[in-house]
Amino acid sequence: MPSPFSEEHQQFRNTVRQFCERELAPHAAEWERDELFPNWVFKRAGELGILGAHYPQDVGGAGGDYWFSVAKSEELPRCNTSGVVMGLLVQSDMATPVINDLGTQEQKDEFLRPAIRGEKIAALAVSEPNAGSDVAAIETVARIDGDDYVIDGSKTFITNGTRADFVTLLAKTDPRSGAHGCSFFLVPTNTKGFQVSKKLKKIGNHSSDTAELHFEAMRVPARYRLGEENLGFMYLMQNFQSERIIACTSAVAGGDRMLGEAIDYARNRNVFGKPIIKREYWQHKVVDLMGKLEAARSLAYRGAEAYNVDKHVNQGPVSLSTVRLISLAKIFVGDVMSEIADQCLQLHGGWGYIEEFPIARAWRDQRLFRIGGGTTETMRYYVAKLMGL
Ligand SMILES: Cc1cc2nc3c(=O)[nH]c(=O)nc-3n(C[C@H](O)[C@H](O)[C@H](O)COP(=O)(O)OP(=O)(O)OC[C@H]3O[C@@H](n4cnc5c(N)ncnc54)[C@H](O)[C@@H]3O)c2cc1C
Repeated sequence: MPSPFSEEHQQFRNTVRQFCERELAPHAAEWERDELFPNWVFKRAGELGILGAHYPQDVGGAGGDYWFSVAKSEELPRCNTSGVVMGLLVQSDMATPVINDLGTQEQKDEFLRPAIRGEKIAALAVSEPNAGSDVAAIETVARIDGDDYVIDGSKTFITNGTRADFVTLLAKTDPRSGAHGCSFFLVPTNTKGFQVSKKLKKIGNHSSDTAELHFEAMRVPARYRLGEENLGFMYLMQNFQSERIIACTSAVAGGDRMLGEAIDYARNRNVFGKPIIKREYWQHKVVDLMGKLEAARSLAYRGAEAYNVDKHVNQGPVSLSTVRLISLAKIFVGDVMSEIADQCLQLHGGWGYIEEFPIARAWRDQRLFRIGGGTTETMRYYVAKLMGL
């Protein structure tokens, strides 16, 4: 596959890289300790055009293709704290694509434009205490009442949830109808009845916030419904594809870093009189991992290219063959990243278990990949269904 990146993509990549290395990485340890990166990170990313490079110009984006998003996702891990990567990708590629796809001009002006500028923080509120993989089983209900919907229910695991200005929320508008009874809403978090009920403590990705939300008699004007009533599940499946592929390309870039750091360590650490890297066992291991990493990158790029063609070239919905490819990428990248993290930690010996070594944090952080945005098992279940098995 020839490189999908043009000179323009490279310039954008450099902007993201400099932002991460100069403005974010120096604070990484502090934000990990504080378990929150500050809100100015969104604002600054917006100023630099990092959040909207792939969105059309008429909503304040740069009008680029999806490879801008891929370049961004590959550079962000240079900030050295995965929570920031997650928070920013939720803002640019997880909570907002559905607004670009379905939003009215009013909705785009009120929510998408300020999100692209980093002035309003966005969160995607889908998962619930009793429904994660099985989205159709959500219990949050939106009941029409005059010109409003009244929403009751709870969400959990919501990234950016403690400080979001608005949430892109999925609720049941027809509770008897499973997948065919869900609708999307844009909900400003200062709406009466919206409550952050808990900040969840995580084993990794410490610098990002993850919240439990509760809604009680929360009145949302009908003009904040996104798209058609009861088609929310279908819209979500479209939206998931952006979330999943961008998570894949970012994870592969994280794998590059883990492997690179492990090789450096192995060059400098002697065991039984010679550097670890001179041990044939580790040479072969590293070579095998490199091959798997390149295979993971190729599959992720194929998914990104298919997504780019569907959405940016054809300006249509994501096709089922693209969904299949992206789901396969999510499975394969997840398995490869877990293996790379585990082997790179092993190569460090005891130091791999000590916080000051980057591999310790990377090992914890990458574990989320096989869970968030659809578990590996759920991806296999979808692909099997698509294959008619
Ligand atoms: C740090 C973090 C951040 C997150 N951010 C967000 C966010 O911003 N917004 C949001 O809406 N959600 C978010 N999530 C939620 C995430 O998407 C869910 O955790 C995920 O979809 C799995 O749902 P669950 O946790 O309810 O697990 P469950 O659905 O209860 O699954 C439990 C187990 O059952 C397995 N399983 C499920 N279905 C099948 C099947 N068909 N066959 C075999 N096994 C199956 C799963 O693979 C898993 O191993 C986040 C989660 C975490 C941990």
